[in-house]
Amino acid sequence: MIKTNHKIEFYPEKCVGCGLCYKACFVDIIRWDAEARKPLFLYVNDCEHCFYCEAVCNKDAIKVIPDYKSERLFQSFERYN
Ligand code: SF4
Ligand code: SF4
Repeated sequence: MIKTNHKIEFYPEKCVGCGLCYKACFVDIIRWDAEARKPLFLYVNDCEHCFYCEAVCNKDAIKVIPDYKSERLFQSFERYN
């Protein structure tokens, strides 16, 4: 398993429960808590840092902090060397 240290900061007090971030995440890192009407960030290690979730949230409730030194990124770049 490739380890990364990506982080996603979530500010629930700003979230209005629109679900757009959940729909935007194409790799299913964001799941949806239907009862609380809030996103759940479950597999942050596999985040592709596309920033879609952060960009789509017009309440500034999400901040994606990629770990650019992660092994996973180095492995991806090595393919093109
Ligand atoms: S897009 Fe923003 S406001 Fe909407 S559910 Fe996600 S975090 Fe909450
Ligand atoms: S940055 Fe992209 S891959 Fe990562 S949680 Fe947000 S939408 Fe998903």
